[in-house]
Amino acid sequence: MSKAYTRDYWEDVLTALEPEGRHFIDGEHRAAATGETFTRPRPMDGKPGPTVSRGRAADIDAAVKSARTAFESGVWRKKEPLEKKKIMLKWADLIRAHGEELAMLETLDVGKPIMASLNVDVRLCADGIQFYGEMIDKLYDEIAPTGPNARALVRKVPLGVVGVITPWNYPMIIDAWKLGPAIAAGNSVVLKPAEQSSLTAIRLASLAVEAGLPAGVFNVVTGYGEETGKPLALHMDVDMIAFTGSTEVGKLIMGYAAQSNVKRVALELGGKSPLVVFEDADLDAAASAVAWGCFYNSGETCHASTRLIVQRSVRDVLIAKIEAVTKSDIALKHPLDPAAQIGALIEEAHLQKVLSLIAVGEKEGARRAFGAERVMTETGGYYVSPGVFVDMTNDMSLARQEIFGPVLAAIAFDTEEEALRIANDTIYGLAGAVFTGDMDRAHRFSEAIHAGTVWINTYDMSNFATPFGGFKQSGFGRDRSVHAIDKYCDYKTIWQQFG
Ligand code: NAP
Repeated sequence: MSKAYTRDYWEDVLTALEPEGRHFIDGEHRAAATGETFTRPRPMDGKPGPTVSRGRAADIDAAVKSARTAFESGVWRKKEPLEKKKIMLKWADLIRAHGEELAMLETLDVGKPIMASLNVDVRLCADGIQFYGEMIDKLYDEIAPTGPNARALVRKVPLGVVGVITPWNYPMIIDAWKLGPAIAAGNSVVLKPAEQSSLTAIRLASLAVEAGLPAGVFNVVTGYGEETGKPLALHMDVDMIAFTGSTEVGKLIMGYAAQSNVKRVALELGGKSPLVVFEDADLDAAASAVAWGCFYNSGETCHASTRLIVQRSVRDVLIAKIEAVTKSDIALKHPLDPAAQIGALIEEAHLQKVLSLIAVGEKEGARRAFGAERVMTETGGYYVSPGVFVDMTNDMSLARQEIFGPVLAAIAFDTEEEALRIANDTIYGLAGAVFTGDMDRAHRFSEAIHAGTVWINTYDMSNFATPFGGFKQSGFGRDRSVHAIDKYCDYKTIWQQFG
């Protein structure tokens, strides 16, 4: 029988929580070499949050050294595949067993609803580790075609030390998307989580060691991007950076790789995804998909459907339906309220950025249909109601910039050609969708939208079997699926001649 979660229950879990904020290096928690720490206000109520170690280059050096030592010793990569698999699966089980604790750490850090943290983020994190754990004893190398007197083995070998840098919007899920394949491939990892979301990363590392992952294979160094992420990306003994974050910082990461040791990079970056609705679509289904696609996680989602491109003849009726769905289904509440569907934004500065982008949009002529206002100020937290802007063109700031808040830009079109042109008129290419009753048009459109994922008459369907990532300035390299393993490996050819 499933547990009856109440606000009081979660308040008790929060009171009992003792978050660990130190780095995790070489199998143990460690304070920063300088002893420095930082705290930040809790998004849910603005009260002071837990204390976290403020890492710098010396901490990165220590973590990279530990990772390198573990890699060279072969303590992980040379273990029997079956043994490695068992450890990864045990790690996934421990994540599930500590689900309530991990969910609370995530909600405390980022302000998302506790039930979403538990039922979505914890679940997908554990599923991700399990998916790649299960692959470990099913990875084969190749024998290339040669003449009879030779043999050429084509082996897939781990890179060595992988630096992972992640954002704050889905910390545990994105960590698992990278840790799973990187570690399953035999690498050692140094993870630098966003300064806003350190707690679950640290706990994932201690659970990994509890599951049997050897010390040094997975290290976490917390801190700020410039002070901790930059030295990791510039480090001469790091073989790859797997990065998820903004396009702006992604470009810096490419620069650091070029300035240092030509390390490999994989970049999962921003988005401004179009959702195109034709007049022959099921408008109720479209309204629900638009609202959830744009407003889930308070709009702090890289592939959020932030640009609604709607046929003019159905624009007003669709906007009315989106408003109705938003108000009836997407409850904005305190994150510890089990009925909350969306919660707080990450921090005051980010909330102010969202509000200032809205102000610029209004100055440019966008008209507010509903919402998009600061609310729940009595909590002390950072809340913005989901909202829609109409009378928009695709050159306005609200249609071009990634807002990362619950704000939808609705743009009307008259012809299919115009809809496609608007959909592709963006620097990003992460995701897109088309809603239509005409299946020929659905297929034409899904092929023509230039994005890593396109949905037909739905939004945000996903599973671990499908690759996820972007075209254009949304980055390159893919998370999820069996293909994600490839980017954490190199091919090595071994020739042998006979007779
Ligand atoms: P961000 O500002 O780019 O930060 C991402 C990570 O980079 C953080 O850990 C950050 O550390 C670190 N960082 C910042 N400056 C750095 C530097 N100079 N050198 C090395 N590391 C540095 O992004 P965010 O605000 O956390 O996350 C939101 C962005 O992520 C959005 O653009 C969103 O679209 C994107 N995103 C993309 C995907 C995808 O799969 N494509 C998924 C989720 C999010 P600090 O936090 O300490 O600054």
